[in-house]
Amino acid sequence: MRLRNKPWADDYMREHDYIVVQEPFEMLGKWSELFKNPNAPLHLEIGSGKGQFIAGMGKQHNDINFVGIELVKSVIVGALKKVLDADVDNVRLVNEDAKDLRELFGENEIDHLYLNFSDPWPKNRHEKRRLTYHTFLDQYKKVLVPGGEITLKTDNKGLFEYSLISFSQYGMILEDVSVDLHADEDPLNVPTEYEEKFSAKGQPIYRCRARFK
Ligand code: SAH
Repeated sequence: MRLRNKPWADDYMREHDYIVVQEPFEMLGKWSELFKNPNAPLHLEIGSGKGQFIAGMGKQHNDINFVGIELVKSVIVGALKKVLDADVDNVRLVNEDAKDLRELFGENEIDHLYLNFSDPWPKNRHEKRRLTYHTFLDQYKKVLVPGGEITLKTDNKGLFEYSLISFSQYGMILEDVSVDLHADEDPLNVPTEYEEKFSAKGQPIYRCRARFK
């Protein structure tokens, strides 16, 4: 993704610091305190992009708290706008790198994790960068509650196949697999920006849900 300089982005995020958390590393173990209902489950999306999924999920599930992490500043401001437009108070955003997940979230702090259209890193030598590489699974397992689940959606067949194998080699249980999500017509599915784009081109959307033992 091309990085564009958006000098107003910092001001825009600071203006809405109740949504874009300014000191996220200080929230370790305390994320639920940021929400109106601190007892609600906490769901995390990694690589939220322009935020259509997390804003839509926030609207659909007002009994769940959501946090979205997005690395790229010029992209996360799009997510901030979506969350403001959706007028939801159960979504927070973090402009950080998910590689530092263990410094952001405490053990058992997250109830469910979403990976939507993550970068596929197709070259073998970039395997370690894939968000379903076993070192990432180690981190997810720690921040998730025991028996916590990951839902992954992608248009990328290679990443999907790789992720199924990686989950399985890690001893995770596959709860649900679809190789054509839109043909299966899940009424609760909230499409992401990438999902709409690829689906419009006629590409099938893959989805799976895997649970840690
Ligand atoms: N989920 C969105 C965007 C998919 S593109 C959608 O489906 O439309 C993948 C996104 O993940 C990009 O916006 C990229 O900046 C972000 N990303 C990639 N690696 C990341 C990391 N380590 N931490 C946080 N975000 C990351």
